[in-house]
Amino acid sequence: MDYPGNLFVVAAPSGAGKSSLVKALLELDSQVQPSVSHTTRPPRGQEKHGREYYFVSEQEFDQMVLADGFVEWAFVHGNRYGTSKRAIEERIARGADVILEIDYQGALQIKRIFANAVLIFILPPSWDELRSRLQRRGEDSPDTIDLRLQNAAEEMAQAREFDFVIINELFERALFDLKAIVHAQRLKFSAQRRARAETFKALHIL
Ligand code: GDP
Ligand code: ADP
Ligand code: 5GP
Repeated sequence: MDYPGNLFVVAAPSGAGKSSLVKALLELDSQVQPSVSHTTRPPRGQEKHGREYYFVSEQEFDQMVLADGFVEWAFVHGNRYGTSKRAIEERIARGADVILEIDYQGALQIKRIFANAVLIFILPPSWDELRSRLQRRGEDSPDTIDLRLQNAAEEMAQAREFDFVIINELFERALFDLKAIVHAQRLKFSAQRRARAETFKALHIL
């Protein structure tokens, strides 16, 4: 199915800077809307239900799985995370661009369902930098950081399945790269014909 809106899917090992980059993009570009996932993980310090995630119990998550409420869901670092149908379908059908910040398993499931989804993988510049960002963020216990670093190797091996790769060394450079990918999608023939219908008509382009 060809929807008028774009679906951007961003994946990265924990600590690579995915949330920071997506947040910065959302502040600059009001055409892009975030998809808010459901998770069974407990909220961190400043996180708010309905903003970063819908924080649900295992039972509530089970119910949504049974009710076929998810486009994709996966176990990540010991918790379950899922993208609800409601979070994306209506919005891309209406022409909004939606961005998903999800793990690689979910990203690959999304690509099977939405063939036009644009998959973007964010890499850290090095292992040392990844570890120090997780430590500096100060949101996770040392055990959780170790688990996330152990999982990072397997996650990064999946980068080859993605359409685009951004190395988040200098933040501003990585943000520029992310904006360029979003912008390029809007210049595709089908998108331009939709956005600039009058111009195309006047130029007799069908
Ligand atoms: P409750 O609404 O707080 O009783 O708990 P629910 O588990 O039903 O929903 C938790 C939150 O997720 C609420 O803010 C709901 O509006 C929202 N919600 C429920 N189902 C969906 C869904 O399929 N997609 C999205 N985006 N939000 C949902
Ligand atoms: P993720 O969502 O991928 O787990 P975050 O966006 O939470 O990662 O970033 C992890 C930490 O690294 C945060 O403290 C963030 O401020 C920091 N960070 C993100 N990008 C950069 C960068 N280019 N240089 C230095 N620190 C960064
Ligand atoms: P965190 O707990 O750091 O917010 O996220 C942990 C991991 O879960 C990240 O890799 C994040 O991308 C992933 N994640 C968040 N939401 C979803 C989702 O809806 N589906 C899937 N498959 N992964 C998600």
